[in-house]
Amino acid sequence: MTQQISSPHAFTELRDGVRAVVSQFDSRYWQEIDDARTFPEAFVKALTDAGWLSALIPEEYGGSNLSLTEASVVMEEINRAGGNSGACHGQMYVMGCVVRHGSDKQKQDLLPRIARGEIRMQSMAVTEPTTGSDTTRLKTMAVRKGDHYVVSGQKVWTSRLQHSDYMLLLARTTPLAEVKKKSEGLSVFLVDVRSEIGKTITVRPIRNMVNHETNEIFIDGLEIPVENRIGEEGKGLKYILDGLNAERILIAAECIGDGYWFIDRASAYAKERVVFDRPIGQNQGVQFPIARAFVNVEAASLMRYHAAAMFDAGQNCGAQANMSKLLAADASWEAANVCMQTHGGFGFASEYDIERKFRETRLYQVAPISTNLILSYLGEHVLGMPRSY
Ligand SMILES: Cc1cc2nc3c(=O)[nH]c(=O)nc-3n(C[C@H](O)[C@H](O)[C@H](O)COP(=O)(O)OP(=O)(O)OC[C@H]3O[C@@H](n4cnc5c(N)ncnc54)[C@H](O)[C@@H]3O)c2cc1C
Repeated sequence: MTQQISSPHAFTELRDGVRAVVSQFDSRYWQEIDDARTFPEAFVKALTDAGWLSALIPEEYGGSNLSLTEASVVMEEINRAGGNSGACHGQMYVMGCVVRHGSDKQKQDLLPRIARGEIRMQSMAVTEPTTGSDTTRLKTMAVRKGDHYVVSGQKVWTSRLQHSDYMLLLARTTPLAEVKKKSEGLSVFLVDVRSEIGKTITVRPIRNMVNHETNEIFIDGLEIPVENRIGEEGKGLKYILDGLNAERILIAAECIGDGYWFIDRASAYAKERVVFDRPIGQNQGVQFPIARAFVNVEAASLMRYHAAAMFDAGQNCGAQANMSKLLAADASWEAANVCMQTHGGFGFASEYDIERKFRETRLYQVAPISTNLILSYLGEHVLGMPRSY
């Protein structure tokens, strides 16, 4: 295995603990799940039971209250050990909105049950089919009627909904035309989806390039009690954005885990595969791209630790979180290509897992935020150039 050299702290115990759980799920498990396009239920349950997914829940609510740096190591190690955090990362960070902005009643009600693994809240419905990255123009409306809201609209790419008890929903409570700033007038709600799916929520699964449980949903007349609104009405976008730095850093860590996995596989294969009477890794044309990909994963990992340390110190880390996501997604994608190329034809055979991981890591160029949107954030907010959209 590649020597880990960028880690400021080794986090050896943490890594060993996560790996002990993930290693119960071997290559065959992932291939069968991928073939059948089913949810890796046993894998998510094992991580939940071992407490890893409640890492960011405060101790008073039954979580382990780890730092974001440590939580990022958990995500990294899941992917580095061959797992797919995409099936469970929502459980780690969606509830952050409740931790930071929820009422005492919401926290007391939900967080201990999430920590104990009794309920899952790993789904967040923000993206809509007609507005995409232009979030403030989303069209789903929540209209207040006495002690509840009535919601109608449509969402797309609502992931893990079929394996969640609760979903976080972003909807307009004041029409766009009536707000001073377009970021105002959006509110965030906790939706108990168990009793609503098949009634006011219609779910259409989207078959996609990766085995990601994700859906198009149609909401028609969904009633949400006012007490299920998180924080103040109209401030919902701010609450969602508050959570995005943590999400970006955790996703960066997943990419870094993927990157190391690809480099481990590529360098091992380059040492053992003999063609023209020599290991292919003896050829610099094979060796150097692997070494370069390693450099880039290491650099991305350092930026991840930097961003996470700032987050843990309570500093504004928007730029660093975005940069770490961009660098890590690029590094894992480069490592994926190098690993595929090093394996020649065998890289395409499912039994090597490379083509599956290759598909999985490609997603991070687009979701949860696409690379161009990160660049435009940096161009505008860090470098002071004109807004491009
Ligand atoms: C597997 C998967 C799971 C997902 N899970 C969730 C989820 O759980 N919850 C959720 O809410 N969403 C989820 N998403 C949605 C994801 O966040 C969006 O796909 C992503 O933010 C991009 O939005 P879009 O697909 O609408 O692309 P668009 O906004 O239509 O953009 C298309 C392309 O144009 C580029 N582009 C757009 N505008 C500009 C501009 N001004 N300048 C430069 N380039 C631009 C984008 O970068 C992108 O490459 C998921 C997506 C996928 C594929």
